[in-house]
Amino acid sequence: MAATLRSQRPAADRFWAKVNKTDTCWLWTGAKTSRGYGQFTTGGRTGMAHRWAYEDRNGPIPGGLPLDHLCRTPSCVNPAHLQPVTQRVNILRGESVVAKNPAKTHCPKGHAYDEINTYVTRPYPGNPSGARQCRACDRERKRATSWKRRKNPQS
Ligand SMILES: [Zn+2]
Ligand SMILES: [Zn+2]
Repeated sequence: MAATLRSQRPAADRFWAKVNKTDTCWLWTGAKTSRGYGQFTTGGRTGMAHRWAYEDRNGPIPGGLPLDHLCRTPSCVNPAHLQPVTQRVNILRGESVVAKNPAKTHCPKGHAYDEINTYVTRPYPGNPSGARQCRACDRERKRATSWKRRKNPQS
């Protein structure tokens, strides 16, 4: 970070002074929530330390999405260990089919099973954790269906 930028942002100095950078995780040594997430107060507002770190490095989080700790260490503020995810994927990730099928990175049609393109269905008989679905395929199916309806209003 440039020296001029740093001097304009004393919050950054205060923030990073509370971080213990290990070889892997950057551990927050300041105040923490009951769940172990770091808390940082700046401009009279208290927020999540890991979100602050991520936005400091990467800019605003798109859509205000929750950040998932890829390292599963709540007090870690290493931006490289943080990834914006939809709430649903965040909740499911621990037990999710994404976690159970790590080898499959693409759907049968070759769309990436990434955070944006993937969702998990409700549990159903035979698959208590739900099935992983491709949004791109969904859109294509819907498009095909509506096209058929238009062509064949009877069906
Ligand atoms: Zn970490
Ligand atoms: Zn697909």
